Amino acid sequence: MWGFAFRRARCQCDAMNVLLIGPPGSGKGTQGERLAQRLGLEHIAAGDLLRAEVEADTPLGRQVADYMRRGELVPDDVIMKLLLPKVLAAAQRNGYLLDGFPRSVDQAVEAKALADQAGAAPDAVIYLDAPRDELVRRILARAAIEGRPDDNPETVHKRLQVFDEATRPLVDYYRERGLLHVVDASKGEDEVTEDILAALAKVSS
Ligand code: ADP
Repeated sequence: MWGFAFRRARCQCDAMNVLLIGPPGSGKGTQGERLAQRLGLEHIAAGDLLRAEVEADTPLGRQVADYMRRGELVPDDVIMKLLLPKVLAAAQRNGYLLDGFPRSVDQAVEAKALADQAGAAPDAVIYLDAPRDELVRRILARAAIEGRPDDNPETVHKRLQVFDEATRPLVDYYRERGLLHVVDASKGEDEVTEDILAALAKVSS
């Protein structure tokens, strides 16, 4: 009961649009879920939505399965088609917590043009930063539990390389726009959640 009251008291339930970016293994999914709940935002996870399409064997799923198995980015037009309607709809409600998008400056620029028009631009970008050996350790530990087909050593190496080449430039892109908050994601889950909430509290106040 006290835990509940404590959480309620600390809930910052203002409408807000947040992007969560970080390398594979940095905890985007875990933190995305927790934050969305704490902040009353809609959690939209690019990778989860893609995996659901693959599992349901939809035309879109068949289009992306090979890219995902190889650890490469799926084509921009596919990810835009899948995510944008959901993102814009969430922004009309109480806001979104979007994890795994954008993953390149091209995606960011394209999404920005559409989001600006719709009043759905991000208010803050959280970058989950952690050292490479910790990321690999976490992914391979998760592989034993979740059995994701792209959590094998070879594909993990490729995903980290794609992150460095395509996604890491977003850190400067958003820093230059005054939206970036870097969080040390090598800490424990609870501490990372609190650090992110503290960063976002400054944005909304
Ligand atoms: P992780 O960050 O651990 O690699 P995700 O679940 O976020 O896991 O993504 C899994 C895969 O889904 C990626 O390797 C990529 O193939 C695809 N994917 C996810 N988000 C995007 C995106 N924004 N653009 C292109 N491909 C994406």
